[in-house]
Formats: sequence, structure tokens, C-alpha cells
Amino acid sequence: MVTIDIISLFPAYFQGPFDVSMLMRAREKGLLEIRCSDVRDFAENKHGKVDDRPFGGGPGMVMTPGPLVRAIRQARKASGSHVVYLSPQGAVLNAAKCEGLAKKEHLILVCGHYEGIDERVLALEIDEELSIGDYVLTNGCAAAIVVVDAISRFVPGVIGDPDSVREDSFQEGIFDAPHYTRPEVFEGLEVPSVLLGGHHAEIQKWRKQEALKKTGQMRPELLKLFKEKNCEPFTSHRGA
Ligand code: SAM
Repeated sequence: MVTIDIISLFPAYFQGPFDVSMLMRAREKGLLEIRCSDVRDFAENKHGKVDDRPFGGGPGMVMTPGPLVRAIRQARKASGSHVVYLSPQGAVLNAAKCEGLAKKEHLILVCGHYEGIDERVLALEIDEELSIGDYVLTNGCAAAIVVVDAISRFVPGVIGDPDSVREDSFQEGIFDAPHYTRPEVFEGLEVPSVLLGGHHAEIQKWRKQEALKKTGQMRPELLKLFKEKNCEPFTSHRGA
């Protein structure tokens, strides 16, 4: 069971993504608890103001530290909480990081807005900064949804068949293999015959080859790492 508190200016953003499909079932089964709180509830002025102009000048507004720090401290659990600030300046999220986060008992995800949050919040309360990619979003809510979705797949019981997670892209350091289903011929394109032959070892071999080929075409640096780890000399699959 993982409990996730999401602190943002827009709790309404999360109505929907966590109420469908696997995330909803995980919540219903008690594998995942998601709570969303509004930073404005922690403002100490009657207008609920939680931003101000940056010291030193410059464009935009900055989220003030008080409401955020109070919101994080209220969400903290005595047993230990891991506090993540979603930020374009953080380490870029990957499968290994998601697997690690799924082992935490309690996560607090902090979503910024405007130019970001006062730096002192990071010094006082944040354990790590995580980015979902090298681009800038208007606020951290979409990033929080990505993080919750990606880590939930590693929470035992959320995905019915654990093999499905093991065979996914990045788990072994390379991509998943291509998938086909009915019909056998679609608009003139046939399913590779090896998949119809019922020969398990041949199917596994073909899947591995295809996974390596596509990884080499799309992400040669991943294939290089994979080959180094598996002690094979690197030859690019580009164009193979
Ligand atoms: N001025 C900041 C900078 O350039 O680093 C960007 C602030 S951004 C407009 C507002 C908020 O969106 C951030 O505080 C963060 O919470 C969120 N955000 C933006 N891009 C993100 C990304 N790539 N990954 C995670 N969160 C992001």
C-alpha cells in the first residue's frame, strides 16, 4: 500500500485521471491511497494569496514559502514521508526511479506554478526534485499525474500479471517487443509467421531480436549500455 499526498493549487486537475481504469481499481483495492490538497487552504490571508513578486525583479510570480511548508508539514506522517518537488530542474524520471518510489510507504508530491516555488521550501522540506522531461509545463499537476501513474505499475497487485511489467520497455534496459493481435491480416499487412507457429523458444528469440533492433534504431545509447552490461561488444542495429 502506498499513500500519496499531492499538494497543488489545482486539486480539481486530478478529478478524472485517478478515477478510471487501473488507478481506480488500485484505489478501490486499497493498494493506493491518493489525497489532493489545495495550497490556498494554507494561506494566512483572507484572499488566499499564495504568490508574490520575485525579489530582485524579473517576470512572473513566485509561490510563497509559508503555505507550501504548512501544507507539506500537515501531510507528513510520523512514520516517514518522502517529499518530491516536481520541477524541470530535477533528475529526469525513469523506470528505475519509479520502481524505487513505489517502495516508499508515503509520498508527498509538491506541484509548483508561476515561476516556481521559493527556494527555501526546497532547503526545508524537499527530499528530491523530479522532472518528467526537458521542457517546461505551466504547472506541476500533469507531472504529478505522470509520476503517480508510472509508479503505481510497480505497486504489487496493481497490474494483474507481474510478467507484463517485467517485459515492458526499460525493465531489462531495452524496449518491449512489438505486439500483434487479431486479425492475422490487416489492410494487407500480415502478422509475422513466427508468432503463429506456437514454438515458444522461437517466439522468445524473435521478440528479443526485434526489441534489440528497435532499441538500436531509436535509442542507440540504451542498446550500448545494455550490451556493456551483458558483456557483448557494441554494434549498432541502426538500419539492421
Ligand atoms: N521557472 C521554472 C524553470 O524555468 O525552471 C519553471 C516553472 S514552471 C512554469 C511551473 C511549475 O511547473 C514548476 O514549479 C514545476 O512544479 C512544474 N513543472 C514545469 N515543468 C516541469 C517538468 N518538466 N517536470 C516536472 N514539473 C514541471
